[in-house]
Amino acid sequence: MTSKSVSREADDILLATDMIRLGARLQVLQAETSLSYDRLARLYREVRGASPPKGMLPFSVDWFMTWLPNIHSSLFYNIYRYLDTFTPAKKSYALVQAYRLYLEQSEAGLHPGGSPAEPVLSFTRAWMLVRFFESGLVQLSCCQQCHGQFVAHAHDPESAFVCAICKPPPRAGKTRARRKAHASTTA
Ligand SMILES: [Zn+2]
Repeated sequence: MTSKSVSREADDILLATDMIRLGARLQVLQAETSLSYDRLARLYREVRGASPPKGMLPFSVDWFMTWLPNIHSSLFYNIYRYLDTFTPAKKSYALVQAYRLYLEQSEAGLHPGGSPAEPVLSFTRAWMLVRFFESGLVQLSCCQQCHGQFVAHAHDPESAFVCAICKPPPRAGKTRARRKAHASTTA
């Protein structure tokens, strides 16, 4: 084994450990590192104290278009794109850093005073989103009202695009009101 492949392996172990801590599924680790399935499964158990979950990855583009997931996904992807373009962190490293920043932002901004429950966008979904961008299934569309960049289906016309924050569905207001009512009843 050359020293180069030893350091590659060490880098991959660190990267995989970071991604496991953030909640990555085993399929993600296999795609992003050159470590074997057995090595990754062992690492997963060491880090999380449990076996990796089995089953398919959440493979749905439409999920990213629903109201709250769209806001969270757009926040994440804007951070990711900035890091990948303007900083030395590329690809999976940009993904890990962007996801950490997303968690900080979403806890501080989108759930003021709320419980740090499950993030809306899981690490595995964030990884899927980057893949959807790479394969051209989704695009960033510019909101005609706030000029923010939001995740949208590829080839959707941008001329009349209004984002999920500027035009929330009627249900969203009710959810917010319900949450507020819930908060005041449990306070
Ligand atoms: Zn907007």
